[in-house]
Amino acid sequence: MAEPLLERPCGDCSVCCTHMTIDTPSFAKVAGVACEHCLSPGCGIYETRYDICRTYRCGWKHAAWLPEAMRPDRSGVVIDFRETEAPGYKLEARLLAYADPAALERHPVPDVIAGLIAQQVLTHIARSGPPGAPGAKAAVNAQLAEAVRTRDPDLFLAALKAGVRALETAP
Ligand code: SF4
Ligand code: SF4
Repeated sequence: MAEPLLERPCGDCSVCCTHMTIDTPSFAKVAGVACEHCLSPGCGIYETRYDICRTYRCGWKHAAWLPEAMRPDRSGVVIDFRETEAPGYKLEARLLAYADPAALERHPVPDVIAGLIAQQVLTHIARSGPPGAPGAKAAVNAQLAEAVRTRDPDLFLAALKAGVRALETAP
């Protein structure tokens, strides 16, 4: 992957202030409920915001190879990366469609998913649940591998859409 970019600005995005679960000793909130300090965009207590707010960076902020259109408020998808010990993988990605699972099917998200799978990243698609309730998550490497290997865009999109439909109906 390309070199990381350490301080890509959030701009008008404030998606994580609403759509992420935060559970720290100093601050906690459920996913799907806006933080009481969120100004959408901006933070009403920016200078004294919590530690987690100072340290959290979604994947778009630090992965320079992701396009501008992947900014979470533009794409409808928050991407996060973490190391993994899953056999055959060093890195894991989660692409969370926080409002509408169909966002996973819209440009540029399919290209990003295909690129991750081609680079042997364990790739999960995910959707949010109702506020405070769990969502659903599924790895898509196996079902998309053949389409990525053959570089068949129609096959890829059909398999991705099937994965998104399954995600929508997952408990
Ligand atoms: S989701 Fe990412 S880009 Fe958006 S406000 Fe949070 S850290 Fe910034
Ligand atoms: S305190 Fe500010 S940065 Fe932290 S979640 Fe709330 S609005 Fe966002």
